[in-house]
Amino acid sequence: MKTTGYAATDASKPLARFEFNRRELRGNDVSIDILYCGVCHTDLHQSRNDWGWSVFPVVPGHEIVGRVAAVGKNVTRHKVGDAVAVGCIVDSCGKCDQCVRREEQMCREGPTLTYGGQDRIDGELTYGGYSRNIVVREEFVLSVPASLDLARAAPLLCAGITTYSPLRTWNVGPGGRVGVVGLGGLGHMAVKLAVGLGADVTVISRSAGKADDALALGADRVLISTDDAAMAAAANAFDLIVDTIPVRHDLSPYLPLLDIDATLVIVGQLGLVDEHSTMPLLTGRRRISGSPIGGMAETQEMLDFCGKKNILPDCEMIAIQDINAAFERMERADVRYRFVIDMASLEAA
Ligand SMILES: [Zn+2]
Ligand SMILES: [Zn+2]
Repeated sequence: MKTTGYAATDASKPLARFEFNRRELRGNDVSIDILYCGVCHTDLHQSRNDWGWSVFPVVPGHEIVGRVAAVGKNVTRHKVGDAVAVGCIVDSCGKCDQCVRREEQMCREGPTLTYGGQDRIDGELTYGGYSRNIVVREEFVLSVPASLDLARAAPLLCAGITTYSPLRTWNVGPGGRVGVVGLGGLGHMAVKLAVGLGADVTVISRSAGKADDALALGADRVLISTDDAAMAAAANAFDLIVDTIPVRHDLSPYLPLLDIDATLVIVGQLGLVDEHSTMPLLTGRRRISGSPIGGMAETQEMLDFCGKKNILPDCEMIAIQDINAAFERMERADVRYRFVIDMASLEAA
C-alpha cells in the first residue's frame, strides 16, 4: 500500500518528503496509523551515514506511537483502535536462545531493525516512523497503557528502554545508589526511571549549569565532576553509574566513584573511549559494561511501569517539516529533552 514519509535519499541531503510502499498485511501483521514519533540521535547518524552502514533511502524513526488501523487474520494481541507502540526492532529469528528468553535485541541472527534493516521474509528494506503508517509483526507491537499521554510516550521506545534495561539488569531498587552521567534525552530518562524505582540518584555533570534541571527531574543531588574535592569525597559512592554521553570522552574520572563490584554501563555509541588506567578495575573488581535497548517483554514491562508511575519524557513537539532544523539543534544539545514529531503535520503539506 502506498504511503508518505520523510527520507534522506543520500548522506549529503536533508530529509524531504518521500512516497513509498508498505507491505500488504500478512496473517500476523498489524497496520498502525502513526500519531507521534520521537527523534533519536541514531536517526541523525543514520541519515548522514555517520557509522558507514546506512542503506538509502533512510526513513528514520524508532520511537513510534499510534493506533491500530487493521490486523491480519491470525492476530490475537491487538485490535483496531488500540493505542500501540513500536521501538527499535520489528522482528527476530524467534528460535535462538536469546529470542526464547525474550531478549530479541540480542538475537543470534541479529534482530531486524525498524529502519535500515531487511525484512526477514521478502528481503525489502525497512522504513521507520517518520511516516504516515507502518506494518509490523504483532509480537513486536507493544501496548501503550491508557494512563500514558500518547503525545509524550514515544521517546520511551528507545530512550526509555535503553535506560530502563540496565537499571533492571543491575537490580536497582529502593535505596540503590545510581549515578547518571549526561543529562540529554537518555540521561533525563535514566534519572526519572531510577527515581521511579526508588533509587538514590545523583547526576554527575561537568558544570553546575544543569543542577536546577537535574533536581527538577527528581535527582537527589548533583556531583560536579570538575570539583576535585567533591569527586574525592564521592569515592565508592555508587552501585551503578549509567553513562549516557553520546560522544567520545574519558571514563577514568568516574571509575573510582564505583563501589566494589559496581558497574559503569555505557548506553551511547561512543566508538573509541579515551585511555584509562585499569587500576580501579583491579582494586575494586569494578566493571565497565554496555547495554543496548531491551527485549520485547522488558519493553512492555517498562511501558507498564511508566503507566503506573506516570513517568513521561519531557518533550518538544515539532512538525515533520521542521525535522532538519531539529537535527541541527540536537547536535548542539539544544533540546529539553527530546523532540517528538506530531505526525498530523504530514497531512498539512
Ligand atoms: Zn534510538
Ligand atoms: Zn533469535
